[in-house]
Amino acid sequence: MSATITLALSKGRIFEETLPLLKAAGIEVLEDPETSRKLILATNKPEVRVVLVRASDVPTYVQYGGADLGVAGRDVLIEHGVAGMYVPLDLNIARCRMSVAVRDDFDYATAVQQGSRIRVATKYTEIARQHFADKGVHVDLIKLYGSMELAPLTGLADAIVDLVSTGGTLRANRLIEVERIMDISSRLVVNQAALKLKREPLRRLIDAFASAIPK
Ligand code: ATP
Ligand code: MG
Repeated sequence: MSATITLALSKGRIFEETLPLLKAAGIEVLEDPETSRKLILATNKPEVRVVLVRASDVPTYVQYGGADLGVAGRDVLIEHGVAGMYVPLDLNIARCRMSVAVRDDFDYATAVQQGSRIRVATKYTEIARQHFADKGVHVDLIKLYGSMELAPLTGLADAIVDLVSTGGTLRANRLIEVERIMDISSRLVVNQAALKLKREPLRRLIDAFASAIPK
């Protein structure tokens, strides 16, 4: 009888892009989260299961042992912190970037140069706080939970800090990207206690993932 391994994933791109990594470890998920309403998905390996959680809840599950390991964006890990977790791999999936964007008629460079206070709306307050502190720019951060693009259009904020991949959403909302803060990809995170207690199966899983990371 081997120990059960619980992997926390979020639905959507992280789930989809983790499937090939699981396959490299000989693991196939037996249900499709888009059609099933189950939150615990069985795999072809009786000792491995997948739990579906909000992207921003993955580190919480792994930190407190609700899952042995999980896949989370660098953005989410910076916001949450990585206490109690081991981050062995950059999986190079769910790639995008964290950027500053403004309305196309807002002169960001001049506002920065003049030392004006800039109102910035974002879900990523920790990344934004660090970024503007490093630049020595004074900002008022406004925490939002979604649809950041709306903030400059309604006058709620001058700028947003948000994830960008193609830039299509920004363009559709007359926003322009004025600064790239960092590249984002998803990381494998492992509960430190689980790594001690279930060392062999977790090591094998980590090694299999490492061998299948996309270029
Ligand atoms: P929640 O479900 O809590 O609202 P979310 O909407 O941020 O979370 P997703 O949109 O599924 O969750 O994004 C999950 C992760 O995928 C993000 O944390 C980020 O690392 C990455 N990601 C987000 N947007 C993109 C994108 N456009 N392209 C590639 N990766 C992205
Ligand atoms: Mg989402």
